[in-house]
Amino acid sequence: MFRVFLGPMEEISCVACGGDFTIEKERREAHRLYECRVCKVQFWWPFKNPGTGFYGEVPALAARNLDPHSHPLFPSQRRFLKTAPKRGGTLLDLGMGTGNFLAEAQKRGYRVTGCDFDGAAVAAAKSAFNLTDVHACSVEEFLKQNPARRFDVITMFEVIEHLDDFAIFDTIRLLLAPGGIVVLSTPNRRRWTPFMRGDDPPRHLTRWNEESLKNFLERKGFSDIKVKFVPVVFNRFIMRFSEWTAGWLSFGLARKAELSLTQTPRARRAAAGGTLRLLSKIKLYGLFFIPACILYSYLWLTGRRNCTALYAVAKRI
Ligand SMILES: [Zn+2]
Repeated sequence: MFRVFLGPMEEISCVACGGDFTIEKERREAHRLYECRVCKVQFWWPFKNPGTGFYGEVPALAARNLDPHSHPLFPSQRRFLKTAPKRGGTLLDLGMGTGNFLAEAQKRGYRVTGCDFDGAAVAAAKSAFNLTDVHACSVEEFLKQNPARRFDVITMFEVIEHLDDFAIFDTIRLLLAPGGIVVLSTPNRRRWTPFMRGDDPPRHLTRWNEESLKNFLERKGFSDIKVKFVPVVFNRFIMRFSEWTAGWLSFGLARKAELSLTQTPRARRAAAGGTLRLLSKIKLYGLFFIPACILYSYLWLTGRRNCTALYAVAKRI
């Protein structure tokens, strides 16, 4: 009864488990959101990643590539570094961006390797953090070029929701050493609605909860699966106010000014970027500290503080 028909003969099977029992949950322009009644994943249809050109046009990513030091780690990356399983082993980060996380993992004793399809980000990682074992390619290409390499830990933070093909998990299993672990994080679909901003198709193609993520990793042949909740961090939470007031209280002036410094020598650019970010932080706290405290307390009291992201660790069988 839950089978979905788009036309007389067309039906949508679950992109994660292949099951036929999917139900439509939401429509957004050309996209429809389905939930699988078997494995509980939610996915947008058409299930198609917009490709690398789409990300190259995002201003936040251009600013990140210009000054990698300025961008904070995700709370899930901090959690990994704090708990640091298999410290000192080999680590491969997929979707490494500009390498901020890899640089921190290296400081904690990991022998680090990274992949990202964004060549500009990989180049920025090399020059900003002196990372050498980083590659502008897909993980499948990496395996082809390095068929004998194996890793103790493979990380992929905020990547799975962008994927339109889960065959990558077969490659991950091939690249893991026996007993190796995969660590990933993704937005929790139970989070407070204003936090869902940016969680739209075609940028994000899947939505996960604890159950669907566990089911998925189990189906992909992993064991000892643990899925945990990542709480809201106040410093990041207050930054949301800039997004919510964009256009009438926040104009992204610091980012625009930073991007206009492309031709400025690196040292001066870093100094100017630091000043701009400090000024925008002062403005942020001056304007939004009290409302942010009230809203943060509300999330805490209603039990939604823990619903921002999911953090999963699973072992290769
Ligand atoms: Zn399914």
